[in-house]
Amino acid sequence: MREKFYSGFVSLVGRPNVGKSTLMNHLIGEKIAIISPKPQTTRNKIQAILTKPDFQVVFIDTPGIHKPKFKLDDYMVKAAETTFGEVDAVLMLVEPLGRVLPEDENVLERLKRVKTPVILVINKTDSADEEKIFKTTDIFSRLYNFADIVPVSALNGKNTDELMKVIKKYLPEGPKYFPDDMVTDQPERQIVSEIVREKALRLLRDEIPHGIAVEISSMKKRQDKNLVDIEATIYCERESHKGIIIGKGGAMLKKIGTNSRQDITALLGSEVNLQVWVKVKKDWRDSDMLLKNFGYDMKKI
Ligand code: GDP
Ligand code: MG
Repeated sequence: MREKFYSGFVSLVGRPNVGKSTLMNHLIGEKIAIISPKPQTTRNKIQAILTKPDFQVVFIDTPGIHKPKFKLDDYMVKAAETTFGEVDAVLMLVEPLGRVLPEDENVLERLKRVKTPVILVINKTDSADEEKIFKTTDIFSRLYNFADIVPVSALNGKNTDELMKVIKKYLPEGPKYFPDDMVTDQPERQIVSEIVREKALRLLRDEIPHGIAVEISSMKKRQDKNLVDIEATIYCERESHKGIIIGKGGAMLKKIGTNSRQDITALLGSEVNLQVWVKVKKDWRDSDMLLKNFGYDMKKI
């Protein structure tokens, strides 16, 4: 007889910097950095998938849409809200400050409209004493009927096993939605390639026809630090285009790289070492891989 399989969708909410990306990285494993969508794209629910022999969790980092330095604004909360009703559980991350911030109240207000169980995750317990953690638990549990409350440190992994156990409780019996080897790597690359392409198009304006495609040939997170090495290649159709994309003394390419890196850093929540190359590939329209990259945007042009 086969074992039962459990699967479900879990979204993470919380204000910028509370540690959503760090927690998701920790829960998923070392191999990926977190994906956050850009608000305007249709891919506004980016997923990170954790597959174990007996269960699969699809994490949705919806409010990660932010640029970290901005306040969690109404738009983002709204974007997140649409997923609240569709998921099996919501992880609401807060810090052990011993008080409730206006953004938290805002999120709770919206959560009250759905029946989805909400797990309060008090993160960064490594940076607070017991009393603060207790006070935070107390004050939040008066505001909302949380399904569970779990204090963790996403940074050092304290109690994250316990959190995983709690999450498992809320997974219904269900199918494996995604294959074992799918973790988000692909969509993440696509978003990164889209960013580079967008910057290139924006900076180049009409000088270059839309005949460029961007391939992310390598994207690796360093084991020892919060840094992702990325190699991107911009494909164009003519030698003369290559010259324009590179610019005088490499100035244009440098600018494309700098602008892209800013967005990618915000997107991944980590430092980014980005290298951009330019190649002429007359027949890129016949390349399946590049067409796929380019086709991803076709609908929106
Ligand atoms: P996000 O904006 O919610 O995705 O937050 P990030 O995951 O990007 O984390 C924001 C900052 O908080 C980073 O500098 C993290 O290193 C830090 N951080 C995340 N989790 C913890 C934690 O458990 N303890 C401490 N001390 N810092 C943390
Ligand atoms: Mg983040």
